[in-house]
Amino acid sequence: MSEADQGARVRELSHFIDGQRAAGASGQFADVYDPALGRVTARVPVASTAEVAAAVAAAKAAFAAWSETAPLTRARLMFKFKELLDAHTDELAELITRDHGKLFSDAKGEVLRGIEIVEFACGIPNLLKTEFTDQAANDIDAWNLRQPLGVAAGVTPFNFPMVVPCWMFVMAAACGNTFILKPSERTPSASIRLAELFIEAGFPKGVFNVVHGSKAVVDALIQHPDVVAMSVVASTPVAEYIYSETAKRGKRVQALGSAKNHLVVMPDANLNQAVDALINSSYGSAGERCMATSVAVAVGDVADELVERLAPRVRSLKIGGGMEPDLDMGPLISAAHRTKVLGYIDAGVAAGARLVVDGRGQPFPGHEEGFFLAGSLFDDVKPDMTIYREEIFGPVLSVVRVPDLASAIALVNAHELGNCVTLFTSDGRSARTFTRQIQVGMVGINIPSPVPAAWHSFGGWKRSLFGDHHAYGQEAVRFYTHYKSVMQRWPDNVA
Ligand code: NAD
Repeated sequence: MSEADQGARVRELSHFIDGQRAAGASGQFADVYDPALGRVTARVPVASTAEVAAAVAAAKAAFAAWSETAPLTRARLMFKFKELLDAHTDELAELITRDHGKLFSDAKGEVLRGIEIVEFACGIPNLLKTEFTDQAANDIDAWNLRQPLGVAAGVTPFNFPMVVPCWMFVMAAACGNTFILKPSERTPSASIRLAELFIEAGFPKGVFNVVHGSKAVVDALIQHPDVVAMSVVASTPVAEYIYSETAKRGKRVQALGSAKNHLVVMPDANLNQAVDALINSSYGSAGERCMATSVAVAVGDVADELVERLAPRVRSLKIGGGMEPDLDMGPLISAAHRTKVLGYIDAGVAAGARLVVDGRGQPFPGHEEGFFLAGSLFDDVKPDMTIYREEIFGPVLSVVRVPDLASAIALVNAHELGNCVTLFTSDGRSARTFTRQIQVGMVGINIPSPVPAAWHSFGGWKRSLFGDHHAYGQEAVRFYTHYKSVMQRWPDNVA
């Protein structure tokens, strides 16, 4: 289908409840845009309280048998799901690109990251294995169980429509729970296809359900007495709201929030690598990744050369529609978000930061209607400026100059957000000091975006995460299971 046809056709999306698509019954819909075209390409139904209740009822009914299903059987279904995801990688990636705007190559990378979570979940029999003590006392054995919680729910952001849902429903289901996903209303298409493939893999109906909407649907999930746990990835105010509303009802909750990620460049760093890392990490996916670098911290005398090298690279970024080849980045998610990012650039100029590359007002011939914005680069940014303090979530990089490593560490640690951070250096001692002293959840040394592998776990510190557990990996097994301690004796005088 041509690009124009894609734009002209408006797809009707649906919920996915109890093993099948469910057309919206509330009569309310939200528009889904293709950000490269700037046009509505789909309508997503907004669930009513009754539809949320139907999804919870389906998940609750499925829990009884699913929680008793042997982990090895669950693992075998995960293997089938993985094979289907492999076979449908391009289809899923295109759905992501059309809703989100990110490059098709980037979207394929996201699908692969999602598959890695499924591959990890294939090891669930081993992951659920616990400890056993023979003869904890005379004739007494002691051991632990990890048992599923019940019906869990997840709320996900627009920027990773496949991988963030996979962090949640894949690990929840592997642990024996049933799940309701409330994906972003701006990028909902991939989640419905994931639910279909899940059923095709052989998972029982009701194990994984999808309902669409925004705050009202999230509130209905939090308040439903049969939803016992919430996983959330969102902006910090939303993450904090869902965390507190869920926790005050005595339910289990993990809520990952916003990011303001720093990349620290030492004078002894390999500058070629540091500049490549900054360009990829700051402008890739138009700066709309939670692992994107938005602050380059230039240590000592490295700053002038760093900015000199970055500026021409930012000016020459190749920008276009995500399905076009050989580009560096696509559009932003929405016109409103572009206006917000432009507001930050204006605020940076007004506050006295030096705008070395100005992305405002750049034309995009052939893409006039799309939500495009070219890259911007600020130098001499100070910690009290709004563009330093707040998450911009766009193609804008701020350079902050500091005298030494200790000041760089103090700067990063003083920020209220602590998702990820990176140090570029050729000195092992600096790397070790940095790794140990930095108050951030994910740390890279000479790595632009230190996204943990599927068998580690993902999460920030401070106001980038509310709750006790990080996402995926062994942390997800802990989050999605109750821990039980058993002591047992069989005296020989039992009649
Ligand atoms: P958002 O906070 O606007 O929305 C996230 C989800 O919350 C959506 O499903 C949305 O429908 C729902 N929501 C929105 N307002 C709500 C409210 N008042 N009450 C209840 N639910 C509500 O975030 P977004 O713009 O979709 O995504 C970008 C944000 O997510 C950024 O801040 C980014 O840093 C963050 N993010 C964080 C991580 C991480 O791992 N920490 C990963 C990806 C994205």
